[in-house]
Amino acid sequence: GALWVPIVGQIAPIPAVIAIVENAVANGVKTHLETEVRGIKVENGEVKGIETNNGFIEADIVINAAGLYADEIARMAGIDYFEIHPRKGEYWIFDDDVPGPRRVLFPTPTPISKGIVVTTEISGHLMIGPNAQDLPPEEKENFATTEEGLEQVWEGAKKLWPRLPPRSKVIRTFAGLRPEPTGGDFIIKAEEEVWGFINVAGIRSPGLTSAPAIAYEVVQIIESDLGIELKEKSKWNPYRKEISHFFMMTPEQVNEAVKRNPAYGKIVCRCNNVSEGDILEAIERMKFIGVKTPSVDSVKFRTKATTGTCQGSFCRPKIVQLLAKEYGVEPWKVTLKGRGSEIGIGDVKVLLRGDGA
Ligand SMILES: Cc1cc2nc3c(=O)[nH]c(=O)nc-3n(C[C@H](O)[C@H](O)[C@H](O)COP(=O)(O)OP(=O)(O)OC[C@H]3O[C@@H](n4cnc5c(N)ncnc54)[C@H](O)[C@@H]3O)c2cc1C
Repeated sequence: GALWVPIVGQIAPIPAVIAIVENAVANGVKTHLETEVRGIKVENGEVKGIETNNGFIEADIVINAAGLYADEIARMAGIDYFEIHPRKGEYWIFDDDVPGPRRVLFPTPTPISKGIVVTTEISGHLMIGPNAQDLPPEEKENFATTEEGLEQVWEGAKKLWPRLPPRSKVIRTFAGLRPEPTGGDFIIKAEEEVWGFINVAGIRSPGLTSAPAIAYEVVQIIESDLGIELKEKSKWNPYRKEISHFFMMTPEQVNEAVKRNPAYGKIVCRCNNVSEGDILEAIERMKFIGVKTPSVDSVKFRTKATTGTCQGSFCRPKIVQLLAKEYGVEPWKVTLKGRGSEIGIGDVKVLLRGDGA
């Protein structure tokens, strides 16, 4: 038997967050990206601000939405009644010439998770996963896939989709960590001991689906528990600045785009038809929201470049060059996914000179 749920939906989570942040910045929000919270200043039972690696930021209200690290942030404010442990979920992704289901196929959920799902992702790739493996709280950076876990996903998916393609069609495996709180439920509340400190912690799956409702609840908490009246901005713009993707354009639109900017006529990612124009627009949007360290993943999540059959083998060097030029840095300062993941170590001649640069 099966349960038919016609209202089920899918979104691409990272592009959704990027879109929301762009819209927030367009409406006047100031971001402090690449800024780590290292302490919370509390005086006479009231929150005063946060200590960061980029200095002190004064604040009357601090909303702790730090995912896996929400327990550590809460402890900085003296609140220690809960702990977060990671629950790992692993996935396989197949090449886009492999047919997948037109609907999301779920097994019967368990008390632990929604189960191993078979779906055709927004990008058109068949994807299977996730499993659910509890890890100790200190393993919040353990994003490694495991042979055991991936086999479990494969076996689980086969039950729903017996026509699973051969493994030679797999282009990527990866793992994510869900933030599992003590008590097993979301912790959304203004903490009484520290006025102005609101926990939005332990936002386990399905936290993404719940995010809009959680935001409304936080508004209510600020108004009713903290007694602060919030006013909707009169000139709030609900729309994100329109974005164009070469792979979605009709031939007429391509002609227009190339006339406007010849960079749209140069294909950088051949697997997914991503043009240099798309990448330059992504970089402009990164700068708009305050991304300081250029990274290939920032371009990947905005354009789909590097996510195709070759997984970036051909286009990554070109993306690095474009990022280096637009950010005005040496190519080896470009990172994979932020500071500490620099792709190169220096220019070959410098290495030969042995001056340690
Ligand atoms: C395998 C898997 C499958 C999932 N499936 C679904 C699903 O089908 N449906 C669904 O709705 N949800 C799903 N989820 C859950 C969803 O991804 C989470 O619920 C959601 O991302 C939690 O959002 P959050 O904002 O609380 O935390 P996060 O998205 O983790 O954001 C926390 C942010 O805080 C930042 N941060 C942490 N510490 C600090 C610090 N000291 N200083 C500054 N910044 C800090 C982090 O860098 C991060 O950007 C899944 C998750 C996983 C891992």
